Amino acid sequence: MHGRVIIMNNKTNQIADEPTIRVGIILPEDKKTLIKIKFPNLRHYKINTEKLSELLNIEIQSESILINNKLVDNILIETIGNPDKNEFPIINSVPTGRGFHWQNEIQVQLPGKIIIQNHNGYLFVINKLPLEQYLPYVATSEMNPDCPPALLEAQTITARSWLLANRKVNHPELDIDVCNDDCCQRYLGVTNVPDQSLRAIKNTYGQVLQYRNEICDARYSKCCGGITESFENVWGGKPIPYLLSIPDFPHYNNQTDDLLNFINSFPPAFCSPDFVKPSDFQKYLGKVDTSDSYYRWEITYSQKELTSIINQKLNLDAAQIINLSPLKKGYSGRIIKLKIDYIDKSDKKKSIILNSEYDIRNALHKQFLYSSAIIIEQKTQRNSFPEEFKFIGAGWGHGVGLCQIGALGMALNGYSEGDILQHYFKNTKIEKIY
Ligand SMILES: [Zn+2]
Ligand SMILES: [Zn+2]
Repeated sequence: MHGRVIIMNNKTNQIADEPTIRVGIILPEDKKTLIKIKFPNLRHYKINTEKLSELLNIEIQSESILINNKLVDNILIETIGNPDKNEFPIINSVPTGRGFHWQNEIQVQLPGKIIIQNHNGYLFVINKLPLEQYLPYVATSEMNPDCPPALLEAQTITARSWLLANRKVNHPELDIDVCNDDCCQRYLGVTNVPDQSLRAIKNTYGQVLQYRNEICDARYSKCCGGITESFENVWGGKPIPYLLSIPDFPHYNNQTDDLLNFINSFPPAFCSPDFVKPSDFQKYLGKVDTSDSYYRWEITYSQKELTSIINQKLNLDAAQIINLSPLKKGYSGRIIKLKIDYIDKSDKKKSIILNSEYDIRNALHKQFLYSSAIIIEQKTQRNSFPEEFKFIGAGWGHGVGLCQIGALGMALNGYSEGDILQHYFKNTKIEKIY
């Protein structure tokens, strides 16, 4: 095992100071025209409009914003001194899980500055704060305090790198770096972050992963299933040298067998029960899900169940599914192109092609399929439609980059944060850029 090598970087990409980032909290697409902000302690806040009060009613009014019945162009709320966590302002009805079945509105308590604008008739709320102050709430906030420090630090460096490599990428039309949702990184404002997570932030202050002097677009997902996926198979474009598929094993030769056998077997990967007992990931990674088997799993649907799911998810009028045929698979066994043949309600033969692992996971489950690394078994009586569809699956998530369960498995077995990052992001270096 190798320790961590930190190289102070004097090259052009060095950032002199800690960056400040702008996080979109309520976006114009949320179409909000009314919000409320509460201030538990007014003493630590000031506002660019008239006077602050304990409760602000903020409303859109044509070209302007109406704040407690006064018209203003925009709103800027700033801190005075050092407010305590429980004194941070609270905004109601903040959307999370946009576009998913778990979409919801919650109230969040925000550190830093709050900027509110009228964006074509809708409220646009931005939280502006120093990057290192934001990081604990997105990198390791859901992890257990007893998590091995190597995992917390590897995850923190990964999240910091992702953030700096992806500023302004997902929302180029808005003046923000990231949004508060899964499309970027989920940010629920201030939450109770364990001291161990704060220590991991402090210990790795300013450290990012670099590949040839560029900050890495460091991706991660819950569980690769034994082999990680290659970037281009999930998001398209060109392969990224440090996001190629790798076997998630301590020692491996290059024969990854054929994928059928791979998914049908229980190889001893870092993310397998050989390295992480189910009780361990429940304990360390928090309330990940009710299921404790996502290294390998199975789902069986009747013809009727699956037809109703695809009709609902894909807006089809299928009467019977004739066949599911994977047209293209990634290195990890994830199906990345799937053809569904069906007959519609007027007995016409039709087909639809799904072109990404994301679309496939969305279409084949009432909520969202763990992963598209599946072997599909269809039980068919002679000359008839399949009666049953059985998916034998591996992993959870897109599988690109760092495998969180695998990283936990490494950390629990004595590997350092440097080992973990070197394993998942080949030929990268950890550098301190501010
Ligand atoms: Zn986003
Ligand atoms: Zn893995």
